[in-house]
Amino acid sequence: MKDFSLESSICKAYNTETLWNIVNHALQIASGDGSLKEHPYERLVRDARVNMIFEGTNEIQRMFIALSGMEGPGQKLAQLARAFKDPIGEMGVIYDYVAAKVSHTVNADRLTLSDPLLRDEAAGFEQGVKALAATVEAALRKYGRHIMDEPFLQKRVAEIAMNLYVQVACVARATAQIHALGTEKAQMEMRLCKAACRNARATVNQLVEICDANDDDEIRKIANFTYKSGGYFCPLH
Ligand SMILES: Cc1cc2nc3c(=O)[nH]c(=O)nc-3n(C[C@H](O)[C@H](O)[C@H](O)COP(=O)(O)OP(=O)(O)OC[C@H]3O[C@@H](n4cnc5c(N)ncnc54)[C@H](O)[C@@H]3O)c2cc1C
Repeated sequence: MKDFSLESSICKAYNTETLWNIVNHALQIASGDGSLKEHPYERLVRDARVNMIFEGTNEIQRMFIALSGMEGPGQKLAQLARAFKDPIGEMGVIYDYVAAKVSHTVNADRLTLSDPLLRDEAAGFEQGVKALAATVEAALRKYGRHIMDEPFLQKRVAEIAMNLYVQVACVARATAQIHALGTEKAQMEMRLCKAACRNARATVNQLVEICDANDDDEIRKIANFTYKSGGYFCPLH
């Protein structure tokens, strides 16, 4: 049986948070009435909230997504590092790496089965995959096995992977609908796909950017200081 643990983790974390946003927003629209038991909103909010906790909390899902996704590239880089210690004997490994790198830079991973009407969405996904690969490789070079101690980075890598998965899932679904119903009847699926992909693409771009420029060290210092002080107390009081 194929291993779908990474896909399952992505679906669990992404869908439980999307459901939470939807019911939370629905309650906000209902406002005062939303908190009354006669209406379904407060119950939906309570029920949706727990999904982010049980069956593996979403923080743990993100760690799993990031670390299992980086395992393969990590092993390849470790093999490459060993190869550089004996470049003559291990020329094949170095050659394979350089060839894969050049091919990836030129071609990226292609979404070959997507409908041509979703060309922009497929291209956006391919760019995102390239950006994720570069981000992961840079992170592995910087931290090596200590990547285990970089939760902020893991969270971002996981969220990039989740938002790429959203794009590919939407393109696959809309393509299937176009093929089954024809372009005319699949208008709504295409609209939804384009909107979801646009949103996910923007999130990926933002996350890739802050993998490089962020205030992680500052946040760590604030957290350590607050923890050691037993809380934050305003100096004026
Ligand atoms: C309604 C309900 C039904 C449940 N039903 C079941 C059931 O049928 N079977 C069952 O086995 N369990 C069940 N549970 C338990 C549930 O699986 C656990 O509550 C859940 O796995 C979280 O574990 P915990 O409560 O011990 O939190 P902890 O593990 O103590 O975690 C506390 C918080 O810290 C975060 N955290 C922990 N480690 C890290 C880390 N390394 N990095 C970042 N953040 C971290 C967690 O994400 C969480 O937010 C149920 C819980 C509820 C609320």
